[in-house]
Amino acid sequence: MAVKNKERMCCVCRTRADVGGMIRVARERDGNGFRYFIDKEGNANGRGAYICKGCVGKAVKTRALNRSFKTNVGDNIYLAIQDESLYN
Ligand SMILES: [Zn+2]
Repeated sequence: MAVKNKERMCCVCRTRADVGGMIRVARERDGNGFRYFIDKEGNANGRGAYICKGCVGKAVKTRALNRSFKTNVGDNIYLAIQDESLYN
């Protein structure tokens, strides 16, 4: 079951909001590096970053996840959060 009634800070606007309205991007080990993915259940292990849905466009433009994870997370994850915000 997804985590409910918890607040997390959006990594773009730094506002706290209920995780239910946010997209969580998590990372997991993948060989020698990391793989980034959208954590729909909100309970994947490891480091995660939250983006409120209103900030997705800005996150893509400013590559906000690269700052949060201090690395280049790759274009795929930005496409994924855009899709997530449009269709979910
Ligand atoms: Zn935000």
